[in-house]
Amino acid sequence: MSDILRTIKSRDPGEKEFHQAVREVVETIQPVVERHPEYRQAAVLERITEPERVIMFRVPWMDDQGDVQVNRGFRIEMNSAIGPYKGGLRFHPSVNLSILKFLAFEQVFKNALTTLPMGGGKGGSDFDPKGKSDNEIMRFCQSFMAELFRHIGSNTDVPAGDIGVGAREIGYLFGMYKKLRNEFTGVLTGKSLAWGGSLIRPEATGYGCVYFASEMLANRNDSLQGKICIVSGSGNVAQYSVEKLIESGAKVVTLSDSSGYVYDEEGIDKNKLEFVKRLKNIRRGRIKEYVDKYSQAVYTESDSTLDCNPLWNHRADCAFPCATQNEITGKDGYNLINNGIKLVCEGANMPSTPEAINIFLDKEILYAPGKAANAGGVAVSGLEMAQNSMRLNWPREEVDARLKLIMKSIHKTCLDAAAEYGKPGNYMAGANIAGFVKVVNAMLDQGLV
Ligand code: NAP
Repeated sequence: MSDILRTIKSRDPGEKEFHQAVREVVETIQPVVERHPEYRQAAVLERITEPERVIMFRVPWMDDQGDVQVNRGFRIEMNSAIGPYKGGLRFHPSVNLSILKFLAFEQVFKNALTTLPMGGGKGGSDFDPKGKSDNEIMRFCQSFMAELFRHIGSNTDVPAGDIGVGAREIGYLFGMYKKLRNEFTGVLTGKSLAWGGSLIRPEATGYGCVYFASEMLANRNDSLQGKICIVSGSGNVAQYSVEKLIESGAKVVTLSDSSGYVYDEEGIDKNKLEFVKRLKNIRRGRIKEYVDKYSQAVYTESDSTLDCNPLWNHRADCAFPCATQNEITGKDGYNLINNGIKLVCEGANMPSTPEAINIFLDKEILYAPGKAANAGGVAVSGLEMAQNSMRLNWPREEVDARLKLIMKSIHKTCLDAAAEYGKPGNYMAGANIAGFVKVVNAMLDQGLV
């Protein structure tokens, strides 16, 4: 089994996030491969860890000063065994092949868990949207799509948003695709409601994450009512996780961005959340401004020299990391446990380091990996694709009810698969095993392609 990791590392030595994501899967699916010699014979591990296609391209654009800028664009088409490639686009200066390959790899398993027919992909650019004008964002998106359009399509590859790509960017990307192809199709998800979007898509990842946490607690005869929750991030996933947590009777005490975090002991209520939404989605300001408005809250600046983040060092019952990968270190893991955490539910992708995950598993707290807990976003993207194909829109209640059912079913699938392979209660093992079995069986059916 370690042969595959050695091969991957020697082939692409710099891709540490990708190695991390593969290692987690390879280690947890060991009992499956032992039970199914046909998987080993067909080299499914070697095949599932190699992208079907990697597209890399130049994105030239002009800034407001008239200077030419050049960024790099990517699309990783990882696996199409069970449907068209599906996964978001990330615009962030940290974007590179390693990060996008890890995200695309995780997406394959996540999409399989949703039960919808979607393969896995991911893409984006090292473009930094922070501080850019609307016109600069539009020119960048148009240049990005001027290349990407030849590789995607509603039956081929259907991108969506991720960090740095929200409704505004999807609009500019869709407009350019439509102009170039001269067709109006569901080639992107996360579209605005007036032109093909789905109700509940903006809320879906955060709501789905909280539905998943509720299921985990219900399984232990508990609920979110009265629970103190720490949430990281203040973007799409964080905002709607907080919204659903408040609705579920929990008390949320933190929010963050890459500059720092706020701790509000009184709790972030609906009005305060509305302020954060306006701050982040319209004014595009920093979370620090929260304490200017709510003076009882405390702001702490990020300090990259520390081996832990003080955000995770507050007394709380549940933690919802909703910012980015590897934001919970081993030290943070200990701090969470020492502060009484009973549940960690990942809104972000791979936010917990392997050291932190080992601590959670060792202490037997409820731990939900992102590929299960944050699958609600892509699930509703799948529902958006279905509505686009039928050329109709389902009402809010219907989409929300389907999202709830899907999260319930993912929860059960994880528990069943974990129990079947001797890891009862281990959601990480269950998610990896169930996703893996579904995708590799499809790959075997389709031959060596
Ligand atoms: P978003 O709206 O762009 O928000 C991202 C948030 O995380 C912002 O508050 C951002 O702060 C913070 N952040 C980003 N990079 C960071 C870093 N290196 N260090 C500290 N904070 C950082 O993005 P999002 O859609 O909410 O995505 C958040 C996470 O959820 C990502 O891991 C994403 O892959 C995952 N996810 C998203 C969806 C979806 O539907 N959107 C679905 C599944 C999973 P700044 O503003 O300061 O950068």
